[in-house]
Amino acid sequence: MIDFKRKSWVSGADSSEFPIQNLPFGIYNTASKSKRVGVAIGSQILDLAALVKVGVLNIPMNVLENSSLNDFIALGKSVTNKVRLDLADLLDVNNKEFAARADLAQFFDNMSEATMHMPVQVGDYTDFYSSRDHATNVGKMFRDPANALLPNWLHLPVGYHGRASSIVISGASYHRPKGQTKPVETEPPVYGPSKRMDFELEVAFVIGKETQLGQSISTKQAEDHIFGLVLFNDLSARDIQQWEYVPLGPFLAKNFCSVISPWIVTIEALDAFRVEGEKQDPKVLPYLEFEGKKNYDIKLEVSLTPENGEETIVSKSNFKYMYWNMCQQLAHHTVNGCNMRVGDMLASGTISGPEKHEFGSMLELAWKGTEPIPMKDGTTRVFMNDNDTCILRGFGEKDGVKIGFGECVSTLLPAI
Ligand code: CA
Repeated sequence: MIDFKRKSWVSGADSSEFPIQNLPFGIYNTASKSKRVGVAIGSQILDLAALVKVGVLNIPMNVLENSSLNDFIALGKSVTNKVRLDLADLLDVNNKEFAARADLAQFFDNMSEATMHMPVQVGDYTDFYSSRDHATNVGKMFRDPANALLPNWLHLPVGYHGRASSIVISGASYHRPKGQTKPVETEPPVYGPSKRMDFELEVAFVIGKETQLGQSISTKQAEDHIFGLVLFNDLSARDIQQWEYVPLGPFLAKNFCSVISPWIVTIEALDAFRVEGEKQDPKVLPYLEFEGKKNYDIKLEVSLTPENGEETIVSKSNFKYMYWNMCQQLAHHTVNGCNMRVGDMLASGTISGPEKHEFGSMLELAWKGTEPIPMKDGTTRVFMNDNDTCILRGFGEKDGVKIGFGECVSTLLPAI
């Protein structure tokens, strides 16, 4: 059980999204330090390698002075969970001895003076389509309003294999992608910049324990294979997608850039936010059955900010709205013997809630361009404009303590 009354002596940590109960992992460097493993606390980053050097922590140095978390994560939960517990003891308000160390400064770096990097080397990336409201909205807009969900949707977590090479860290700028679209039904396709650039509000989980080819992961074993979670913006070019996606699914509309938040929040840190998911009817096949609370009450929001303009919150959703949970997604993904490797990333699919303001994409919020979204500067959007910055945020909250992810920021630049 996580003690939400616990406080830290680190200034500002208790009221930040990185309190002592969170302690997420990331990769950072500073002007004087090479890339390394860090842990967020308040507005500071704990340098784990520096703690090992003075004997406060005992972890192989080569996994810490590293450009990704993969080797650290591969040490297993028995090690990584203990690191979080040991760090919490060091940072606890009652640990006056550690707080008073003369050499304290060497263990901390200011976030404002650090550069964050991709936390893991992503070998493979899969994107699911597991929000019922999102799948229903898309089905209504593009297919049959009366039969919005395709026949397989309620029986299995639909997904596709995405592209790992174009997943980047928060702060990214990317150019409006070019490609084939078919703006007029009766005319031939045309080539040019996408005119329908969208965000997709998602949460992705990172695999923490590998499996061998031929091996499956049950829903019961699944959490042991999930290291932690990040916010995930699956940027999408809707006009390219609409023309290309039949019959094999998304391709160039999705693989030009996806953006993640910088800190991997462990699944253990989110334990207090477990909730029941929607009752699944029809009954699922035995390999997809699960016990316990597998959904998470994590508040999510998306904002858009025009260049030099004011930020407008355009969506407020929640990770709890997933129809298929992460354990089912992982069980389904591996039921055929597909192997998982440490650092693999599996994203939720766009997370929409039942209410209009809870829709997780502009496609839905502006209902295929028919209901423009008002911005604070008096302009409207149906899709993203050049130089718009999109920010995803997310946090669980209990007893006034917030467990957050850090922002997932990306800016759309004009086509080149
Ligand atoms: Ca997606």
